[in-house]
Amino acid sequence: MIIQRLDELAEVIEVPLATLNQHYLDTNFKLKVPVHFARQIEKGNLNDPLLRQILPSIDEAKSVKGFSQDPVGDLNANPIDSLLHKYQGRALLITSPQCDIHCRYCFRRHFPYEQAKKRHWQTALEHLASDNSIHEIILSGGDPLTLSETGLLELLRQLEQIPHIETLRIHSRTPVVAPERALKLDWLAALKASRFNVVLVVHCNHPNELSDETKTLFEQYRRADVTLLNQSVLLKGINDSAPILKALSKKLFSQGILPYYCHLLDRVEGASHFEVDDTPAWQIFETLRKELPGYLVPKLVREIAGEPYKTPIIKTL
Ligand code: SF4
Repeated sequence: MIIQRLDELAEVIEVPLATLNQHYLDTNFKLKVPVHFARQIEKGNLNDPLLRQILPSIDEAKSVKGFSQDPVGDLNANPIDSLLHKYQGRALLITSPQCDIHCRYCFRRHFPYEQAKKRHWQTALEHLASDNSIHEIILSGGDPLTLSETGLLELLRQLEQIPHIETLRIHSRTPVVAPERALKLDWLAALKASRFNVVLVVHCNHPNELSDETKTLFEQYRRADVTLLNQSVLLKGINDSAPILKALSKKLFSQGILPYYCHLLDRVEGASHFEVDDTPAWQIFETLRKELPGYLVPKLVREIAGEPYKTPIIKTL
């Protein structure tokens, strides 16, 4: 179900292994891609926008000034190992060190997940219970939907015992990249029965990532009364064009999802080749604002370490 070897990927996408090898970089943040996502890649196309998101590339070896291992200040924002508390009223729980996919631009690609294992949940839950300013808990990771269904149900049960938490937000890329792994029927039933407002924020960067399978999955989440939003990252050579982002917004909406954020790249070491500058980003969004209704235009933002909210990108022309 999950590809972790280059020869397996070469077979699915029908690109010769020798060709892939010319572009491949062996790095600590290894190749990892679900078969479902790999099948969405156009066969034989080395420049496919989905392939570029997952192929460890020799471009990652470049050392570029201003790119660091912790670009958004996560390491200074965790009062205890598995909890990040950056924004007022909301806290983020690192629920799992795993993702079903390794996105090459990931801002947490260097995060020390081994320090945020499940054994710390209890401390995190105690911290949440003691701070009644927190009304929303965000399950993040890694990816929370890589947890077992039993683990998710237990976590939900424990969170429901904290009376001041009203909203449960789940950040996950799994529904898009491996929809079969996000279809957990007991979990969906528990969400529907939960006292929480439940929000699922998926992560999709290109319309080609959405499929009939994702559509069916999102129908199930909507039936469980889950609000569906999307966040994306603006990535050079992948989705840095108005027609692609317009198609993405329309396809998301056709699957019941509203665009929420489009992030400028977090300047993480190894991802400099994906960066889009502010001016072209703004120009793309000017076109989107003209051509789409407001509810289909995501907020263009950048995360700046230490800021109390995500910073909107303003006109710099
Ligand atoms: S799914 Fe999210 S956390 Fe995991 S590698 Fe991709 S961007 Fe990073």
